[in-house]
Amino acid sequence: EAPADYAPAVPDMDAGPAPSHLFYQSRQRRPLLDRAQGVHIWDTTGKRYLDGSSGAMVSNIGHSDPVVLAAMRAQMDKSTFGYRLHFENAPAEELARLVAKLSPPGLDRVFFVSGGSEAVESCLKLARQYAVATGEAGRFKVISRYPSYHGATLGALALTGYTTMTAPFAPMMHEMPKIPAPTCYLDRDTLSMDERGRRYADMLEAEILRQGPETVLAFIMEPIGGASTGALVAPDSYYPRIREICDAYGVLLIHDEVMTGAGRTGRFLAGEHWDLVPDLIALSKGFAAGYAPLGAMVAPGQMVEAVMEHGGFIHGYTYAGNPLACAAGLAVLSETVRRDLPGHAAKVGAVLKDRLAGLMDRFPIIGDVRGKGLLLAMELVADRNTLAPLPPERMAAARLVDLAYDRGLIIYWRRTRGGYVGDHVMVCPPLILGEDQIDEILDPLEDALTVLSRELGM
Ligand code: PLP
Repeated sequence: EAPADYAPAVPDMDAGPAPSHLFYQSRQRRPLLDRAQGVHIWDTTGKRYLDGSSGAMVSNIGHSDPVVLAAMRAQMDKSTFGYRLHFENAPAEELARLVAKLSPPGLDRVFFVSGGSEAVESCLKLARQYAVATGEAGRFKVISRYPSYHGATLGALALTGYTTMTAPFAPMMHEMPKIPAPTCYLDRDTLSMDERGRRYADMLEAEILRQGPETVLAFIMEPIGGASTGALVAPDSYYPRIREICDAYGVLLIHDEVMTGAGRTGRFLAGEHWDLVPDLIALSKGFAAGYAPLGAMVAPGQMVEAVMEHGGFIHGYTYAGNPLACAAGLAVLSETVRRDLPGHAAKVGAVLKDRLAGLMDRFPIIGDVRGKGLLLAMELVADRNTLAPLPPERMAAARLVDLAYDRGLIIYWRRTRGGYVGDHVMVCPPLILGEDQIDEILDPLEDALTVLSRELGM
């Protein structure tokens, strides 16, 4: 029995940053989180926020969903940990079945992990072991794009095209080839968007040839860019050409759907918008929507079998397939399907995107509004005609995020275009956002944009 008077220690916010806080760069100390419900979060002073970024594009099903909490409570009463080499567990097995059912044909094996970086690492290692198992041991290079973000661990970081994040660690990582992300909207040529899309895809072929196809293991991309490029959607021509090039050179195609997956873009997987079938998929974030640290690699059975016949997958994590995390994931995904949250995200996302684009009439600082479903972003520019970026030292996107935060709206910012030039903010509320709640985003955002524009003299 737990003692009836048990109460966790509540930190004294006036005592200064806690030792756990010192690793983070945030310029100001944030309030203490109290509770959250649906699309809202309250801090301990009672202030309410609209979670316009779902944390870091995580809380797809919203906060404190009663069905998910009930499923977690039921699992907690049974067991919260069972080591994967000792026991299978029902939530993990059921969740794996559901994920396989929701994934493209052929991708029918699911390997659980605890987050996005681990999901990407797992894809890298399975791909490599598959190459070894099939007599292609010369293949080890993984081509990725810049800008891109694939995770913080050294393997995933080596694929990350974000110099500010990778530079100090460069000597510790194997240098992996990068091609430009398809930032077609920035190009000033006479090509059509589809021609530009093919041109960017062809850069993959050129890079494979430059590296030597027999050394290239895989190509990894976020089908729709996440925070690195600000919800960058390539022209339709890009996607089939990428698949074609990978097939032509025996290069595996890995979709990093850590941010785009689980319904965020209006389909369960972003690749579905183009009927793309990758060879491996990395999932996390919205997958368990913040109720538990959970991620997964989805892989084809024949790839897994080939590796199993060659001694098995030399990889795994202590917490993989944790029953409580999987019970949360199972409830999140079951509810995502039952309530058609991807369909809802497509519908409400289209309205929100129109409203954000409507702000361009009043605010010349907005250079571009883009994205799909509820993965939306606004790029801030000095000049809408040339899309010239704002001076980096103005930290315009960071300032907008702070101004919005003061007004009870949480949005998310990153520097785009390689991590050092250009600004965007992500507007990615939970997929349960009601159309009648859009004003709760637009009103504080307009207010924040008014102040920012005044400060920048625009
Ligand atoms: N891949 C993508 C596309 C991401 O957006 C992220 C996180 O932002 C990751 C991988 C890494 O996930 P995690 O932070 O859970 O390790």
